[in-house]
Amino acid sequence: MSSSEAECGASFPELIRRKRDGGQLSKQEIGAFMRGITSGSIQEGQIGAMLMAIWQKGMVAEETVALTQEMMQSGEVLQWPEAWDGLVVDKHSTGGVGDKISLPLAPALAACGVKVPMISGRGLAHTGGTLDKLESIPGFTVTQPVEKIRQILENVGCCIVGQTETLVPADRVMYALRDATSTVDSLPLITGSILSKKGAEGLNALVLDVKFGKAALYKDLDSARGLAQSMVTVGNGMGMRTGAVLSRMDAPIGRMVGNTLEVCEALECLKGRGPDDLEELVKSLGGYLLWMSGRTASSEQGQEALATVLHNGAALQKFEAMLQAQGVSADIAQSLCSSQCDYFLHMKPAEHKSELTAQSDGTVVDIDGMVLAQVLHALGAGRTKAGEPINHSVGAEILVILGQEVKKGEPWLRIHYDWPALNAQQHSDLQAALLVGKADSYHASPRVAEFILPPKM
Ligand code: URA
Repeated sequence: MSSSEAECGASFPELIRRKRDGGQLSKQEIGAFMRGITSGSIQEGQIGAMLMAIWQKGMVAEETVALTQEMMQSGEVLQWPEAWDGLVVDKHSTGGVGDKISLPLAPALAACGVKVPMISGRGLAHTGGTLDKLESIPGFTVTQPVEKIRQILENVGCCIVGQTETLVPADRVMYALRDATSTVDSLPLITGSILSKKGAEGLNALVLDVKFGKAALYKDLDSARGLAQSMVTVGNGMGMRTGAVLSRMDAPIGRMVGNTLEVCEALECLKGRGPDDLEELVKSLGGYLLWMSGRTASSEQGQEALATVLHNGAALQKFEAMLQAQGVSADIAQSLCSSQCDYFLHMKPAEHKSELTAQSDGTVVDIDGMVLAQVLHALGAGRTKAGEPINHSVGAEILVILGQEVKKGEPWLRIHYDWPALNAQQHSDLQAALLVGKADSYHASPRVAEFILPPKM
């Protein structure tokens, strides 16, 4: 028996058998399994077998809380000064097309007086990653040591950084094996993976943006609600005040998709000139965080506070300070945040642009975000495997909005690309992504469909 097995009085094969047969594991047993992973005393095959047993039999809420806590404790858990008690907040999104919400949200929250140690990821498959977007800005450095993160939070109030080596090492091992064993889509494993990392940030409050629709992982509201409910239960069970927003993800968020173009649109939002749906999402998600952290008496008041800082320049100032703290030169940071900046003086534009035109007269009823993301991915905007390079300049500007009347021949999409060039098949796929119909077939819906509040709020 290894020391981890001895610690809980059961061998790893016994624990795997119990879960395989539908039994329950105790916190101590799950903890021993995690220590087996981090110490290397467990075999890869045993981890894979346990993942499959969890995938097949699931976990009760108590077990999922224990799994998440033990994963979190497998590495460093960030600690913050006492003066910040209650004020440390973050958001997690399940990923969408054109989702640049984190870029304006973190500085807007900092301008409202909370601390945001945002640890983000890179894009994979059709969704873009916040870190990739920010790396379109020359000098922006996503890797920051914990001491520097603390200093930036003290001086600025927010940072957006990558995962450090010391946080949740058990997740790195399990995530790689989940991919290899077809066990990614398991509610307790997704919950444990996401919330262990958020818990390790030492958060007081967390809001989850769980998306549903054609361009989201979850295609319908019910399945998105299942994940949101599981994460809200577990997050609160861990002592982190956690709520969720269920938001629609069919058409892309805003009008820009692609790394550099999304940074431009996030800057416009911070200058109070962003698209309505992006501002709505920043205010909804942030409003909940300000309420859950006790900064405002209600989420509505939180939304008002965020609207104020997005329109009076306070959030923009925080963004400029964050850029400088994370390696961008003062000249570039100031210029990007000035009112009339030509963003392409600082960020590389694509060499080619191509416009698509509407094929008939009518009302814009839908724009399929998934198709757009897949074409941009093939043109180099995204990656298929972790570590692959991407082309930050590739992207698309959507020139129409939902519900707008268009005429045949009017441009509706501008694609930015380098190499490979846009081919005929991609052109026709994109053309089919625009749905033009009768005015009465368009029904406007807000992005936010539902909230799941923490218990006792
Ligand atoms: N993001 C994570 O970090 N883990 C998951 O399992 C899913 C999304």
